[in-house]
Amino acid sequence: MRRRLIAGNWKMHGLKAQLGEVEAIAAAAAANPQIDVALCVPFTLIAPAVAVAGALPIGAQDVHAADKGAHTGCTSGEMLRECGATLTIVGHSERRGDQHETGHDAWAKAVAARRHGLQVILCCGETAAERDAGRAERIVQSQIEKSLPDGASADWLTLAYEPRWAIGTGKTPTLEDIAAIHAIARAKLRAMVGDAADGIRILYGGSLTGANAVEILAVDNVDGALVGGASLTAGKFVPIIEAAA
Ligand code: PEP
Repeated sequence: MRRRLIAGNWKMHGLKAQLGEVEAIAAAAAANPQIDVALCVPFTLIAPAVAVAGALPIGAQDVHAADKGAHTGCTSGEMLRECGATLTIVGHSERRGDQHETGHDAWAKAVAARRHGLQVILCCGETAAERDAGRAERIVQSQIEKSLPDGASADWLTLAYEPRWAIGTGKTPTLEDIAAIHAIARAKLRAMVGDAADGIRILYGGSLTGANAVEILAVDNVDGALVGGASLTAGKFVPIIEAAA
């Protein structure tokens, strides 16, 4: 039985003025101990968020593949750990798109995060053009193949299926389409890591809100959600936590 995980991704949002939201989300997480909740905030907010989050895991949204070196503007796994992060997202579609990150980049970042004891949320998902061309399943399989580290297991890795065209758009795939991709992703995990695949959570992400959470979370092989816009305030995020609990 996989425990559900609801993870928030604040993207490039959040100043210290928003720490009250972190506290309220942490209180909701504590009130719903039957599920896992986590919040991935901007680098600058990790330490302040950790200071008010209690038991709520605070994460980053990216990590560099190297441990240190001449990489201006980048942040290593060791740095994330030092400021209190316990997890990181890698391979988010906004990084694959905006920063031209490849499947290999996501793989190297996941390996680095693991090396530093961070939990990893590894993202995959097709573009609108790829879906329209009937290639969504192949793209997701190929992204998992290129970015899943050897030895991936439930104790440190979670997969997130996030169709790129659904992120921040208010559009979501049909429940049948979500079920189809999650089944394909589960099969791909099984082919790559064997029985360990059964324990690995697969989150859905893309315009998930309090209004559609119950039906999406009920889909087979959907073990939780990665939530962007609707995680920015407790008012919007807590109903999703409660829908999952
Ligand atoms: C995300 O950024 O991972 C995401 C799913 O965004 P949104 O919920 O806003 O679509």
